[in-house]
Amino acid sequence: MSLSYWVSQVFLLLLTASLCAAQGPRDLAREIFRELVEIDTTQRNGSTKAALAMANRLKAAGLPVELAGPRPEKMNIVARLKGSTNAKPVLFIAHLDVVEARPADWSSGLDPFIFTERDGYFYGRGTTDVKDEAAILVANFIRLRREGYVPRRDLILALTADEEGGPDNGVAWLLKQHRDWIEAEWCINTDAGGGLIERGQRLRYTFQTSEKASANFLLTVKNPGGHSSQPVKENAIYRLAEGLARLAKFDFPIEINETTRSFFERMSTREASPAVRADMKAVSGSQPDLAAAERLAQGSTMLNSILRTTCVATTVEAGHARNALPQSAVANVNCRVLPGVSRERVVETLTRVVADPLVGITPLGTMEGSPASPLNPTVFGMVEKLVGEMYPGLAVVPVMDPWASDSAELRRAGIPTYGAPAVFFNIDPIRAHGQDERIGVEAFYEGLEFMHRLLRTL
Ligand SMILES: [Zn+2]
Repeated sequence: MSLSYWVSQVFLLLLTASLCAAQGPRDLAREIFRELVEIDTTQRNGSTKAALAMANRLKAAGLPVELAGPRPEKMNIVARLKGSTNAKPVLFIAHLDVVEARPADWSSGLDPFIFTERDGYFYGRGTTDVKDEAAILVANFIRLRREGYVPRRDLILALTADEEGGPDNGVAWLLKQHRDWIEAEWCINTDAGGGLIERGQRLRYTFQTSEKASANFLLTVKNPGGHSSQPVKENAIYRLAEGLARLAKFDFPIEINETTRSFFERMSTREASPAVRADMKAVSGSQPDLAAAERLAQGSTMLNSILRTTCVATTVEAGHARNALPQSAVANVNCRVLPGVSRERVVETLTRVVADPLVGITPLGTMEGSPASPLNPTVFGMVEKLVGEMYPGLAVVPVMDPWASDSAELRRAGIPTYGAPAVFFNIDPIRAHGQDERIGVEAFYEGLEFMHRLLRTL
């Protein structure tokens, strides 16, 4: 290669360096966010294009990056900001894939895969779930590197595939194939918990420590059937319906854990209704008042879902012809199971409640529960302090979610994981997975600052 080639390369490098220096943290984050949203990472396309784009940016900033996955289109990346000691690292995760979005379903002028800023919002698929957080993490890892910041211990960033579905969940794959890349004392998952906005007001910041597991059970009744002109009392549909009616009236027992106790304790100080406030206080005591818990559960579907395991009929299939007695009736019952409750215990309870040996109860698929992560005062304290600095007076509450995220994989693998994203999002309504997904422009930039400060405390 000629000398002039090298001269031109050095010139290019200097030019890039000066351009980067001129580009502020907000511009960089916005540019990364735009790039991510405009790469279609629905399951059909996979995440590799986005993973490569992020890997290139991180590598260009001088960070070591691993790029790997089970299939060419399902690559994950793991980057590392080296720390000054051998203390166990802290891991940050966000997924790269997004839920399907059809341009025809979106409002006019908006395309899910074109990053659009309008009326104070960034629009596009993944703007809340969860390319905003991925962009903020990448921008901040690059920024910390440029600032010459050396954390006390390694900070690891993993951006992964197939969280929204698909067979190649990146976190599970990394745990299995390259655990050493992501081994950490604890992990922050930016795809769970977080700051909530309602009617333009910041409501609270939720710190997620645990999740319920989802499990399906088939309730099946078989019958010889026959001609519908000759009905008999023994009917598969009636028998199944009676079993389901008993289930409908049943409530699983109330169970309170470390996270829900702390949730009620903190929520009670913000609650406007004196009666609800008193009940929340009574539930958060060392001897939780179960009658008070039951009143809270009866008064709110959301509170009910965190106070007990729930099981609900979701589909029914029965009969084979309009003029025949049904030979089978099958219902799917979907349960959301508290951490620490086994699938066997759920089957036992369903069997007791349905109380009919002719209704078969079979688990469908697997139930992948995960243990709650201990409410680590160091991690929680750090997040609480930071929220307090940026949003004085805002409540910070530990939560258990009634659905599952990638945190479950890490918790099962023994890495305590906390849902603590950077960006506040609107809950009226939540647009993730839906039409015209968007995130507030200011909320995004505040999140950028939040994560920068959080990373710099480590
Ligand atoms: Zn997500």
